[in-house]
Amino acid sequence: METSPCRVVADVHFMGGNPALDFVDTIGGLLVDQPKPEDEFLRSYEDLVVFGRKTETLSERSARRLRRLARERPGEAEAVLAEARRKRELLDAAFRPLAEGSKPSAPVLDELRDFAAEAVAHGELVASEDGFAWSWERCGGLDTPLWPIAHAALGLMVDGPLERVKTCGRCRWLFLDTTKNHSRRWCSTEGCGTDVKKERYVARRRARRAESPSG
Ligand SMILES: [Zn+2]
Repeated sequence: METSPCRVVADVHFMGGNPALDFVDTIGGLLVDQPKPEDEFLRSYEDLVVFGRKTETLSERSARRLRRLARERPGEAEAVLAEARRKRELLDAAFRPLAEGSKPSAPVLDELRDFAAEAVAHGELVASEDGFAWSWERCGGLDTPLWPIAHAALGLMVDGPLERVKTCGRCRWLFLDTTKNHSRRWCSTEGCGTDVKKERYVARRRARRAESPSG
């Protein structure tokens, strides 16, 4: 059964509520399965740029510049993509335990700190509407898309709300449950929520048929 109708990062509607969780969600598939090749949404460096635009962690100007750079240095772009997938595993290891009621390990927290420290080292403080904000606009390197994600991850880990980090009851996606009574169970009601209802309906029908084979 389809886990998601979306197979290209451009079509994915991210619902993590935080860029770090959205980034974890660039791999789909059911929670009970090992990730399959078709569950991967980050297939090229371009996908990383598209993710940045969709989650507004990259400006259009940065995106244009990074696309040009990736064409000039395809080998380096591939290496950044591989690094991005490793960082996604790190963020998964950092936040999934919280969704499951436990805690990330000390080495994972150290790695998250190092990732965020690198992000800070690459960023600059620029004036914003209400003070100052981190910016990676002039950062220049192909690894630019990673820094706002690292920053968002550290912010979430330190400021929370960690009690709101949840995993979908069906697929591997993580999200922030912002409902008043913490009642969100699925990544989306249209996606997994609907799929679960359909599966239950089919299971009920099958059970009824088994009970009364004649009708
Ligand atoms: Zn789901």
